Amino acid sequence: MIEQGNTGRLNGQKSLAGRTKFIFITGGVISSLGKGLAAASIGALLEARGLKVTLQKLDPYINVDPGTMNPFQHGEVFVLDDGAETDLDLGHYERYTSARLTKRNNFTTGKIYYSVITKERRGDYLGGTVQVIPHITDEIKRNILSISDDADVAIIEIGGTVGDIESLPFLEAIRQLKSDLGRENSLYIHLTLVPFIKTSEELKTKPTQHSVMKLREIGIQPDILICRTDHFLSPEIKAKISLFCNVDKDAVITAKDVESIYEVPLFFHQEGLDDKIVKMLNMWTRSPRLEKWQEIVQSIKNPRGAVVIAIVGKYVNLRDSYKSLNEALIHGGIAHQCRVALHYVDSEALQKEAADPYLKEVDGVLVPGGFGERGIEGKIMAVQYAREMRIPFFGICLGMQLAVIEFARDVCGLEGANSSEFNAGTAHPVIALMPEQQAISDKGGTMRLGAYPALLKEDSLAYQAYQEKQISERHRHRYEVNNGYRELLSKKGMICSGLSPDGQLVEIMELKDHPWFLGCQFHPELKSRPHLPHPLFREFIHAALREKRKKRRKNT
Ligand code: GLN
Repeated sequence: MIEQGNTGRLNGQKSLAGRTKFIFITGGVISSLGKGLAAASIGALLEARGLKVTLQKLDPYINVDPGTMNPFQHGEVFVLDDGAETDLDLGHYERYTSARLTKRNNFTTGKIYYSVITKERRGDYLGGTVQVIPHITDEIKRNILSISDDADVAIIEIGGTVGDIESLPFLEAIRQLKSDLGRENSLYIHLTLVPFIKTSEELKTKPTQHSVMKLREIGIQPDILICRTDHFLSPEIKAKISLFCNVDKDAVITAKDVESIYEVPLFFHQEGLDDKIVKMLNMWTRSPRLEKWQEIVQSIKNPRGAVVIAIVGKYVNLRDSYKSLNEALIHGGIAHQCRVALHYVDSEALQKEAADPYLKEVDGVLVPGGFGERGIEGKIMAVQYAREMRIPFFGICLGMQLAVIEFARDVCGLEGANSSEFNAGTAHPVIALMPEQQAISDKGGTMRLGAYPALLKEDSLAYQAYQEKQISERHRHRYEVNNGYRELLSKKGMICSGLSPDGQLVEIMELKDHPWFLGCQFHPELKSRPHLPHPLFREFIHAALREKRKKRRKNT
C-alpha cells in the first residue's frame, strides 16, 4: 500500500548531503549487544518500505583497517569487491540489504588521523594548530557525508560503547551533524541493555538511564532506544524508561533475544520501529513488504531435513572469526529447507589423533580459509578422509590449497608436496607465489584482494551450481596453484573447472569420481545472502543431504 508517493525528499530544500537523511546508531552499557545486526535490520526494514539505504561503520580503534588484526581478537575480516578489508559488521549490512558497499563505508580513527596528518605534512592547514575539534571532527563529518550518494537514508553505526575515550571524537562529530543537517534529517538511536535480575524477578532500567545520561553529557539526546533484553518490556517499564530518558513511549523498542538472527527485522517491525523512524524523519513511504523475511524465518524454523557439517579450522573457539562462513552454510540450508548443524573441529586436536573419530558422523566436511602453519597437517588429514570416504567436501581458499596438496601427495605421488607458505624449501611447491609476486617484499603488496572474474568449464560441478560461464568472486590470499604442476594434477583426475580469463590462475578445482569435492581460491561466503544463497553453498548442502539419504537407504 502506498501511503504517499514521496520517498523522503527534502521538499526542494538543499541540505549538506543532498536529500539523504541520517540515522546514527550508538551503543551503551556493554559491548556485543548486536549493534551491527540492529543497524542491518533497520536497513532491511527501510528497504522493504521502498527506500534506498546505505550503511557505514565507524571504528574507534587506531588500526588503519582491520586487515592486519587477528581474527581471534576481532572476528573475521570482511572483504568488499573493491578489495577493502573491513569490519565484520559490513557483512551483516550486505546480507540484510542490497546496498553496494565500498571502502568508504568503513573507517577507523587510524584512517582519520592518517588523512589529517598527511594534510598537515602537505601544509594544507597553512600553519594553523591542528586539533581534535575541529580538524579531526571535520574529517569525520566529511567521511560520513561522503557516503550519502543517492541514498534516501544513510545508517551510521558508531563502534564501541558510550563512555569509551576512543569514541568521543566520533560522538562529537555526530552531535554537530544534527544541527548541520537539520533536525528532521537526522536521528539518534541508542542500543542499551535491560537486564532481568533473577533474584528479584525484575527488569532493571538503571543501566539504560545511566547510559543515556552519559550520552546527554556529550550533548546527544537519543530519539529512539532499542533495549536488548530476554523479556518483553511491559508498557509500565517502557513508560518508566521513557520518563527517565526523555524519549517518546513508542520510541522505546524491545529487542528480545531471538532464535535466528533473521527474525530481528520482523521483531523490530512488530515493535513499531520502522514506523517511528519514518515518522520522526518526516518521510512518507509505503508500508514494508516483509514476505521475503517471513519466508526465510519460516524455512529456518520448519526444517524438513538436517545435515551436520564439520568445519575443520584453527579459530574454532571464536565463532565470529568464521561469521560469514557460518551464515553462508545456514543460507545453503534455507535453499533446501534443511537445518545445518555446524560441528567445529580443531585441526590441531585432529592432527594429534586421527580424522575418523572427528568426522565419521558428519555429512559434509568444510576446510575454510586461513593463514599460517598451525594445524595445517590436521586439515590435510581431514581432506584425505573426505576424499577417501566419499564425504562431500568444500575447500575455501586455504582449504582448496590443502586439497591440492593432499591430492599431489597421495594421488600424484609427489612426496612432501606443500605450499611454499609452509615450507619454503619443499621439493614440490604445488602452491606457490606467482613469479611476479616473488619480487615484492612488502607483504601487503602481494595480497590478491577483492573481486576478480573467472571462467567456468561447462560440464563441471561449478557450472552446475552457477549456471553461468563467467563469475566474479572476492579474494584475500597470496598463494596460487603452481602452473608447473597443473598438467600432472589434471592427468590424475583433478579438474581445474574455474580459471582466470587469461587461464593463468586456478580459481576452482574439483575431483571426478567423488559425490561432491570442490575447492575454490576465493571466498564465496562473502557474497551469500539469506534470500539468495550462494550457489556453491547451496550445492554443497544439497550434496550432503543427498548422500546422507543414500546412506540411510543403504543401511535400512
Ligand atoms: N594463506 C593462504 C594464502 O595466503 C590462504 C589465505 C586464505 O585462506 N584466505 O594464499
